[in-house]
Amino acid sequence: MKDLDIALPDPLNLIGGRWQPAASGKTLDMICPSDGAPFATIADSDATDIDAAVAAAREAFDGGAWSALTATERGRLLMALARLIDDHADRLARIEALDCGKPMKQARADMVATARYFEFYGGAADKLHGEVIPFLNGYAVTAEHEPHGVTAHIIPWNYPAQMFGRTVAPALAMGNATVVKPAEDACLTVLALAALAQEAGFPDGALNVVTGRGHVAGAALSSHPGIDFISFTGSPEVGVMIQTEAAKNFIGCTLELGGKSPQILFEDADLEKALPVLTGAIVQNGGQTCSAGSRVLVHRDIWETLTARLVERFGTLVASSHGADRDLGALISLKQKGRVEEFLRTAGAPLMAEGQVDPEAPKEGYYVAPRLYGPVDPADRLAQQEVFGPVLAAIPFEDEADAVRIANGTEFGLAAGIWTRDGGRQYRVAKALRCGQVFINGYGAGGGIELPFGGVRKSGHGREKGLMALLEFSRVKTIINHHG
Ligand code: NAD
Repeated sequence: MKDLDIALPDPLNLIGGRWQPAASGKTLDMICPSDGAPFATIADSDATDIDAAVAAAREAFDGGAWSALTATERGRLLMALARLIDDHADRLARIEALDCGKPMKQARADMVATARYFEFYGGAADKLHGEVIPFLNGYAVTAEHEPHGVTAHIIPWNYPAQMFGRTVAPALAMGNATVVKPAEDACLTVLALAALAQEAGFPDGALNVVTGRGHVAGAALSSHPGIDFISFTGSPEVGVMIQTEAAKNFIGCTLELGGKSPQILFEDADLEKALPVLTGAIVQNGGQTCSAGSRVLVHRDIWETLTARLVERFGTLVASSHGADRDLGALISLKQKGRVEEFLRTAGAPLMAEGQVDPEAPKEGYYVAPRLYGPVDPADRLAQQEVFGPVLAAIPFEDEADAVRIANGTEFGLAAGIWTRDGGRQYRVAKALRCGQVFINGYGAGGGIELPFGGVRKSGHGREKGLMALLEFSRVKTIINHHG
C-alpha cells in the first residue's frame, strides 16, 4: 500500500542554503497514519540548530543577498517556485498523502492550493504601496511597508504544504527572511518544498527549515531573541505559550488556532445544496481542519427532515487508506485518534448516525468512522470543544436570535455558514456572528487564497491569506522629510 517508489526527503535541515543533519545527530521516525508503520526519518533538532537557522536568516536579511533583491525580483522567485510546485505536484501529493494519511484527492487539492499561494503572493510582492500623507507646508511624508526582518513560522501537521504556502509565501513576498519549524507528525512536503525553493533560486538563508519536536525546536524558535515576528498555527494551548514568548521579546505574532465553526440552517434553507456541503465540511481531512464545520444549527421546523437526510448521508461515509481515496483517511496519530475517541466515549448526546471504516484498511491505521450526534445541548462538551475529528454536533434552535446566541456561545470564532434565502437575514446574521469568515449559502473550509482568514478569541488573531497577510508580515515606517 505504501507508495515508496517516491523519493522522500533525507533527515536534514535547510540552514543558510546548506542541507545538514541536526547538530546532535538525532533523528525522529515518521509514522504513516494509514498503517501505523515508520516509513521515513527527520532531523530531531534542538536549540543549536535553531540558533544556526536564525543566524543564517539574519545574515540574508541584514544587507545580505535576499535584501538586495527588489520586490519584483522577489515576486519572480515566488512565481518560479509556484511553477515548480505545479511540475512536481504528483510527487508532492503522494508524499503528503503518505505522511498525513489523507486521501490522494485531498493531497492533490492541497498542492494546487500550495502552488497558488506562491503564485498569488508572487504577483502581489510589488503591489503593496505605501501612502503619501499631506502634512504641513515644507514637509513630504511617506508611510512605507517594510519587512519585520526574520520571521518564525511554526506550522501544524493537518495541511503541512498548504500551511507552508499560507504563511511563508506572504512573508517572503514582503522581504522577510524566514525560519520554519514544521510539525513533527508530518513535515516531509515542507522539506521537499524547501528543496524546490532552492531550485527556484532563492538566495541562501531566505528560507530555512528546521524539523523537530514542538517543546524543543519549536520552543527554542519562539523564544529566540533573534526573531522579529512569529506566525503560529496549531492548538490554543501552544498559542498561549507563543504569545507569551512574543511578549517577552516585544514582538508581534499571528495565532491561527482552532474553531467550533457553526453552519446555521434556517427553515427556508436549500437543503439539496446544503447537504453535501454539511458533510464535506466535517469529513474533509478527517475533520482535522481548523475551520471544519463541526456544529450544525438547525431550525426546529426542519429538524426532522434535515437530520433524517444527514443520518442517511453519514451512513454512506467511509474512512479508508490514503490510496483507496474514499471520503476521509486516517487521523494523524495514535494520540489524535485517542483524543477523538475520548470525545466519543464521553459524548453527552445521542449518536444519530455512524459511517464506517473500510474493512480493507490496515488494522494498525488510525481510522475513526464519522459520527453524527444530536440533539446536542449547546453547553455540552461536544458543542463547545474542538474535537479535530469527523464528529458533527447537530443542535436545534427556535429563532434567529437563538441561532446567533448558540453560534456565538463558544470560546472560538473562526468561520460560520448561514443557509437561508432571506436576503435581510443573510446580512443581519452575518454581521451578528462573532468570527472571522462567514459563508452565505455555502461553506468552504478556509475559503479561497485571495480571501482574508483568521479568528477572534480562542481561534486566534491576525489575518492570513489575501492581501491582508502582507500587512501582517510588514510594519509601517513613517518618513517625515522637512525640506522647507
Ligand atoms: P500543537 O499546537 O502542539 O502543534 C502545532 C505546532 O506547534 C507543531 O509544529 C508543534 O511542533 C509546535 N509546538 C508544540 N509545542 C510547542 C511549544 N511548546 N513551543 C513552540 N512550538 C510548539 O498541536 P497538536 O498537539 O499537534 O494538536 C493538538 C490539537 O491542536 C488538535 O487536536 C487541534 O485541536 C489543534 N490543532 C489545530 C490546528 C489548526 O490548524 N488550527 C492544527 C493542528 C492542531
